[in-house]
Amino acid sequence: SENLWRSHVRDLDPYIPGQAAEEAKKQEKVTDIIRLATNENQLGPSPKAIEAMVKAIQEAHFYPDLTCLELRIKLGELHGVDPENYVVANGADNIINLAIASYVNPGDEVVYCTPTFSEYHKNTLLMGGVPVEIPTTKDHKFDLKAMLEAITEKTKVVIVCNPNNPTGTIVDEEDLRAFFSRLPKHVVAVLDEAYGEFITQENYPTGVEYIKEGLPVITIRTFSKLYGLAGMRVGYAMASQELIQPLQRVREPFACNRVAHAGAVGALEDTEHKHKTLAENKREMEKLVKEFRSLGYEVEASHTNFLFVDMKKETGSIAEELASRGLIIRPCAAWGYPTYARISIGTASQNDKLVKALQEIN
Ligand code: PMP
Repeated sequence: SENLWRSHVRDLDPYIPGQAAEEAKKQEKVTDIIRLATNENQLGPSPKAIEAMVKAIQEAHFYPDLTCLELRIKLGELHGVDPENYVVANGADNIINLAIASYVNPGDEVVYCTPTFSEYHKNTLLMGGVPVEIPTTKDHKFDLKAMLEAITEKTKVVIVCNPNNPTGTIVDEEDLRAFFSRLPKHVVAVLDEAYGEFITQENYPTGVEYIKEGLPVITIRTFSKLYGLAGMRVGYAMASQELIQPLQRVREPFACNRVAHAGAVGALEDTEHKHKTLAENKREMEKLVKEFRSLGYEVEASHTNFLFVDMKKETGSIAEELASRGLIIRPCAAWGYPTYARISIGTASQNDKLVKALQEIN
């Protein structure tokens, strides 16, 4: 019974997206489900990644490389940060879990803004830590000033989700640099850049630069978004030796499987697929922003592969209506934004279907 569960576990919410769409498919009301709720790359994985994965599967009887050396070498070439400064694991989800498990003692505070990615809350609770949640600014950005003010003796970790999920916003670079350099010595900074490759502002510094400058930051990245490998589960953290070591110790030995590791290496070799993804995302985002505005929604272009849309009425029922037509979007009521939805950028034809369905519903 639930009484046997740890109290922290009882506090966690169950969340199962897209049930209505699955139901519609089962009843053969729709043939295809269009998934615009989980920010995947709708172009699929790179052909080079697929080729590498097919090859790797022949060796499925061997354990994967213990520390993902080949991928760490490739990442080293990509970022100019040494292979020793990474930890690769089962998705960025797993990395968040490792970072919090490495640093948070029971009673320690973890400071971040909301609305944001729900895993920070969950992992903090699981470690017996205390989530300190600060509202984002009026323009839906992480409020770094308020976060600094919220830091106490008990604060152990601060997390900045940049670009932020679900708002798609980035903070000003001067503010972020000042934030990192003002942190007291007892606080570890985590910078979640799951969508970092989508940032459209030119010359905007990312965690890679901060690490090279010697700022005490653990940067998180993933192969689930730009690289189209969400189903394979590969994420990584990058930081100084000092900060990354505990994550390497906590990590389970074979956290990244052989096929996933090969796929990630293959994906990094395909710059063409990456550029194509970014170009398509930009074009389709601009199109959707226009369409949404003409539907009367309020929306700003985002620095990710999704949009945070104020539909001006309760989005739970719109999402249900869309789901019955096989389209899945993410309503934001659970984040305290009942008139907002987070909508992933799909392919041109998926987006056209979405807009058509919304015009009909409106
Ligand atoms: N961080 C953020 C901000 C995300 O949005 C996501 C995925 N939704 C993750 C981390 C986790 O990504 P992964 O698929 O690599 O676990």
